Amino acid sequence: MTMQDAKLTVAMIPDPVPGQGEVLVDVLACGICGTDLHCAAHAPELNAATKVATGIELMDLSRPIVFGHEFVGRVVSYGPGAQTRIPVGRRVVSMPVLPREQPVLLGFAGPEAPGAYAERMVLSEPLLIEVPDHVSTEVAALTEPLAVAYRTVARAELVSDDVPLVVGCGPIGLAVIAVLKMKGVGPIVACEFSPERRALAQRLGADVVVDPRETSPFEALITAAATNDPARMAAPTTLLGQLPLRPTVAFECVGVPGVIDKPVEEILKRYASTGPIIRKLVFPAPKIREKCMRSLYRMNITNATLFPDLDGLAKSIAFELEIIWKGLVAEPQASHSRGDDRLIPP
Ligand SMILES: [Zn+2]
Repeated sequence: MTMQDAKLTVAMIPDPVPGQGEVLVDVLACGICGTDLHCAAHAPELNAATKVATGIELMDLSRPIVFGHEFVGRVVSYGPGAQTRIPVGRRVVSMPVLPREQPVLLGFAGPEAPGAYAERMVLSEPLLIEVPDHVSTEVAALTEPLAVAYRTVARAELVSDDVPLVVGCGPIGLAVIAVLKMKGVGPIVACEFSPERRALAQRLGADVVVDPRETSPFEALITAAATNDPARMAAPTTLLGQLPLRPTVAFECVGVPGVIDKPVEEILKRYASTGPIIRKLVFPAPKIREKCMRSLYRMNITNATLFPDLDGLAKSIAFELEIIWKGLVAEPQASHSRGDDRLIPP
């Protein structure tokens, strides 16, 4: 399936050819990411925003784009110079990148390096991670968004006693909640307009879930972070001195135009005025709206680590995935209960 001029079309494209150290895979499953929807509907705006943020446009819109960056593939054949360490027929996931001389972001390039909305795609052998037999293809297809959430939480560099606020409970917000729960961080405060997503947030381990139309997420966070134990309190603030609060971290996971305005604006305002109370604000992915980009710049928060250097990346991702698959996916019950005994009442 290709996208051009905001239209998705089923088209015939030739099989891509694996280059040096690359592998051809059959696509078994692929998630439809919110980014795909944004790209289909707002490709020129997205290009303009990435140009502002990074200096380059995400997509070459003069040609069709083949989306799909949350995938599971089955190894078909290897290109020249590959080590063929994973047997043909095995299932694999990969970071959606081809680290060629001209790097390709898989899922945002043309038919010669298609994303997983194609039947076949080319991946880089060093980035391949074999999917263990006990993980279903459908679950393995969640690897990329879960890895984004895992990395987002890692970037928050949580200190013990941090109380997290997750703003927006779409797939990434939910995944962030799951990773926080897996790590035993809490109580987790989440806010979301949709009742269905609030229910999901609760199932994944959020302890306090609010509808921002009814309850201020900021107030909910402050209530959850309250403590009388001086040992658990955040460092004193310059303006307000020592507050009876644990340190807090906010994860902004909204990314939907229109929804962003209320709770996030409030958080941004409060963050700007009470920076020391919310110790850190973390964004999982580049935002497509310029407004949000501006907010990022205004607050001097960079987002460069979504696709960090490739050195050692496969290794670190494999390590993280093992944790995710073990702690989150393979034993969801265990991950739900883990850390509960550490939770303090708000
Ligand atoms: Zn995605």
